[in-house]
Amino acid sequence: MTVYPELYLYIAGAWRKSKETLPVLNPADESVLGELPIASRSDLDDALDAAAAGHKVWSAMAPAKRAEIIIRASSIMRQRVEEIAYSLTLEHGKPLAQARLEVQRGCEFFEWDAGEAVRTYGRVIPSESGIRYMVLHQPIGPVAAFSPWNFPMSQPSRKIAGALAAGCSIILKAAEETPAGAMHIVRAFHDAGLPPGVLNLVFGVPSEISSYLIPQQQIRLVAFTGSTAVGKQLSEIAARHVKPVLMELGGHAPVIVCDDVDPVAAAQLSVLRKARNAGQVCTSPTRFFVHKDRYQAFVKAFVERAKTIVVGNGLAHSTEMGPVANHRRVEALDRLITDAADKGARVLAGGTRPQCRGYYFPLTVAADLPDDALAMSEEPFGPLALINPVDSLDDAIEKANSLPFGLAAYAFTHSARNVHLLSERIEAGNLSINTLEASVAETPFGGVKESGYGREGGMEGLHQYMSIKNVSHRIAF
Ligand code: NAD
Repeated sequence: MTVYPELYLYIAGAWRKSKETLPVLNPADESVLGELPIASRSDLDDALDAAAAGHKVWSAMAPAKRAEIIIRASSIMRQRVEEIAYSLTLEHGKPLAQARLEVQRGCEFFEWDAGEAVRTYGRVIPSESGIRYMVLHQPIGPVAAFSPWNFPMSQPSRKIAGALAAGCSIILKAAEETPAGAMHIVRAFHDAGLPPGVLNLVFGVPSEISSYLIPQQQIRLVAFTGSTAVGKQLSEIAARHVKPVLMELGGHAPVIVCDDVDPVAAAQLSVLRKARNAGQVCTSPTRFFVHKDRYQAFVKAFVERAKTIVVGNGLAHSTEMGPVANHRRVEALDRLITDAADKGARVLAGGTRPQCRGYYFPLTVAADLPDDALAMSEEPFGPLALINPVDSLDDAIEKANSLPFGLAAYAFTHSARNVHLLSERIEAGNLSINTLEASVAETPFGGVKESGYGREGGMEGLHQYMSIKNVSHRIAF
């Protein structure tokens, strides 16, 4: 029978419990799933020492050998997909089918990065005879990484894959609300024969752990995914110690629907994507700017499909959208929707939570929102779609770019001219046309403006975890 796993810390290749624990809740019914051990100061010191020792061993290993271990761990996770997906649904709430896809996506990150690990070439720069300039890409050193709760398995995968493939050790503080995803990854690496100290897993009070780990001399890179507010705090700590950071922060993705596409097809695709992970995705399509000639048809089709989305326990076959992951999201959604309605927006689907246990919230559609509605500038991070008409592509691009965010942006159009203008002018790290997939393992993913900096995925992702050394070698002196 599939069960929620026992939870541990993992330090220096060994599992650890601790006296202090935090309960992990099931968002579908608010029951307690398990007790999460909290790392003490001495656990963190042990993790730092382990990461330093692990880094020496791992960075000295041939990249092909490292890749072999990563691929082995990934294939173990593929074999355990049902068990891992079940844990994700329990702790996060997402439908089982989406949890399975998340595990596969996490494995793709490992497999892509492992493949790239053997191709982190440097270069030789042409020079006069007798001297040679060589550029080397070297593992940057032990990484302190912080992953969020929205994708308990694939978010840690991105960071562990990048660090390990580049030859770095890592201390991961995964999200306390959804620890099992990271636990399963660590278990797979343990079983795949990863040397001790290369991968360490801790939990605790996030601010206490980050403020302790980041300044330590062993840590050479900080990698964080989460809100812009927390990203700024961690960047400040890192800056004080002159440490590079990789920041994947908030988004508020615009979707531009041009006048040359079928609005019904665009709306139907958009609803499914909005419902994915109950909208708790930093790239979730949220601000829809629809050409005025297609507006009525788009809104009608969107609302009709949104009303059919089946919300329920992620373990039930019929469920298309699970509960949101925690009570903070329910409160945030309530606040944003009430504010929008008070300011004159039309709430056309959803809007109120059912009276039952669990953090359920329906897929909610609001249209004709004034610019000062909070939801138009604050990331809802939940199942809330905002739809407004626009006069032209220029108008849409201006509105899309109007926020400090710049993570993912989307457009529906068949016009090469429109695609050209969008590609030139949209302020986002990832622009997707006629698809609502923001990134895959082989493409670089990340933000501009306050959505962060640095990239995960693609060949760019691996280079975040490497430093550049120039070697000038005169043959005789
Ligand atoms: P939050 O800002 O408190 O936390 C976001 C994440 O950061 C959590 O995983 C948390 O454990 C971690 N965190 C918080 N403070 C930290 C610290 N001082 N040091 C290290 N880690 C820390 O908000 P929340 O209520 O958990 O999530 C809501 C907001 O977070 C959303 O509005 C969204 O913008 C953002 N978020 C973004 C992503 C993403 O994929 N970019 C994922 C999850 C949450």
